[in-house]
Amino acid sequence: MSVSKRSYNNWVRKYAACRLNRIEIAMSDKITIALSKGRIFKETLPLLKAAGIEPLDDPETSRKLILDTNRDEVKLVIIRATDVPTYVQFGAADLGVAGKDVLMEHGGEGLYEPVDLNIARCKLMVAGRKGEQANGTRLRIATKYVNSTRRYYAEQGKQVEVIKLYGSMELAPIVGLADYIVDVVDTGNTLKANGLEPLEHIAAISSRLVVNKASMKMKHASIQQLINDMQAAVK
Ligand code: AMP
Repeated sequence: MSVSKRSYNNWVRKYAACRLNRIEIAMSDKITIALSKGRIFKETLPLLKAAGIEPLDDPETSRKLILDTNRDEVKLVIIRATDVPTYVQFGAADLGVAGKDVLMEHGGEGLYEPVDLNIARCKLMVAGRKGEQANGTRLRIATKYVNSTRRYYAEQGKQVEVIKLYGSMELAPIVGLADYIVDVVDTGNTLKANGLEPLEHIAAISSRLVVNKASMKMKHASIQQLINDMQAAVK
């Protein structure tokens, strides 16, 4: 055999070994997925199952913050919904599931948003007291969605005062703390029960699969497989 043929065969052997190694590495990538308890967890379970991932504990009954799954290399971290984009942005989790409302508020830095999971659907809306129109020159808006609210009114060239609240937004217009609220609305029953009505639609909301940008590069094969499996299971 000529020298050049031998060195070519050696190169092919080395390349094949290298490819095999890479595949082995991809299959044993450690993957951490950030989820929040409640509705998002419940509705994400069937999608994870379609990707071959099943948690070994139920976060509603377990106090564990890190859940093992049927796959040794896959862990779930159970955190507050609003913290999911932050964990994924900084690589503390490779993937996560977060509502579009939470992602809009976070800004999406350091994240890919490859799949709309079409779960936990609702709308981000402006709401106010039924049948009343605010007539002040500078409207006061109570919300926990401070960034999204500022952006929405800025796009309309309206100057508003945004008041940050952490819950029970519906109370603010009733007690005169604010003219309007910006909140997520599903059936509208909560607004109705408090004498409020939906006024303006800001955005359609559903939960999204988010991926850390560096993880997407470093663990590409494992994460792409997971994305494909979850995408295929979305209704
Ligand atoms: P509803 O009375 O059906 O309009 O629900 C309104 C309340 O339920 C809101 O104030 C939210 O706190 C909560 N809610 C409904 N849907 C969602 C969702 N997809 N994500 C987060 N919170 C929601």
